[in-house]
Amino acid sequence: MPLNPAVTEDLDAYLDELVDLYKHFHRTPELSMQEHQTAARIRELVEGYGYTAFASGGTGVVATLENGDGPVIAYRADTDGLPIEEDTGVDYASTAQGTLPDGTTTAVMHGCGHDTHITVALETARLLAEHRDQWTGTVIFLFQPGEEISAGASAMLADGLWDRVPKPSAIFGQHVWPGVAGTVNVSVGTAMAMADSLEVTVRGKQAHGSQPENAIDPVVLGAFMVTRLQTVVSRETSARDSVVLTIATFHAGLKENIIPDRAVFTINLRSFDEKVRARALEAIERIVRGEAAVAGAPEPEIRQMYEFPRCYNDPELTGRLLSSLRDELGPDGVNEAPPVTGSEDVGRFGDEIGVPYTYWFLGGHTAESVAAGVAGNHSPMFLPDDVRTALRTGVRSALTALVSNLQK
Ligand SMILES: [Zn+2]
Ligand SMILES: [Zn+2]
Repeated sequence: MPLNPAVTEDLDAYLDELVDLYKHFHRTPELSMQEHQTAARIRELVEGYGYTAFASGGTGVVATLENGDGPVIAYRADTDGLPIEEDTGVDYASTAQGTLPDGTTTAVMHGCGHDTHITVALETARLLAEHRDQWTGTVIFLFQPGEEISAGASAMLADGLWDRVPKPSAIFGQHVWPGVAGTVNVSVGTAMAMADSLEVTVRGKQAHGSQPENAIDPVVLGAFMVTRLQTVVSRETSARDSVVLTIATFHAGLKENIIPDRAVFTINLRSFDEKVRARALEAIERIVRGEAAVAGAPEPEIRQMYEFPRCYNDPELTGRLLSSLRDELGPDGVNEAPPVTGSEDVGRFGDEIGVPYTYWFLGGHTAESVAAGVAGNHSPMFLPDDVRTALRTGVRSALTALVSNLQK
């Protein structure tokens, strides 16, 4: 059943304010687990709508609204920005600065679109409070910090989330991406990959650049590791399975004639299956240690930085949601899509208590710009260029998921 026209009329009357609210969050991004101002603004707004709110996991906010007997359903929005210098050129571009855990000062940007997620969740919360005749039960909004470092969901759970609010029977959420605004992409079953982030410290032996015979060169050794690690995908993973292995940072040395004593690089591994993941992790360790042994180098150090769980959309819950979303957005507004290689920690909320969830993707761009090609999430150029339609569709989708499950 589509949403009651009174709800959509209220949303449409509020859209200008909503775009302004989005621009506010866009201008003021904060780094992972440092979302203090963002959390304060969210809390002020949801309490104004009549919700009971509390801080969770540091800079997370949980907001609950009870509206009679009925089911308990949760909706999650992540709130953190990224250490990126915005290069979109819009007049509401971020000029925010932040400090990373290692003390580095950096520009901060909502380069993953979490500003959209916050705004959509807030407006969904407002409309549910305004239109209580349309649903019954309890709704819980999870404003989660620290998604980008896979820390926020764990922090909220460690802070006793499910002891402080009633356990929901379903959890929903969505992520903006460079799809056509007005449409959503939904995967049934596996929706997003597992991810492992590893840091490898290659140990060598320092010497003058003119005397390589006195060195164990960690740059050459690290280069062999990086090259051979490509075979984890090409030679060790079956063509029927899929793995992504990216090495996006490699740091060593300060001067061309000083062979350094170490090199440090990071590995990002994506996989969809636990067995495939375990085999790839085993191969990474074997290759890194094996190459060091061949070079006669000291044992390298492999440190797990963080990992993301798989995001698995419950087929039954997702099947029902697909049909509700088609009623609301029309058949052309809803695409059933294969899983993506991106990762998320949203699944932890449901996995922890065995509750089904569905997480989908929300288009943010005009059809013309999607056809021409647009910058993706995590780019300094990332910007949903039809944010008005994206916000409107995001709110309608969130409301559809919630209201269709909040009936007696
Ligand atoms: Zn991201
Ligand atoms: Zn994101």
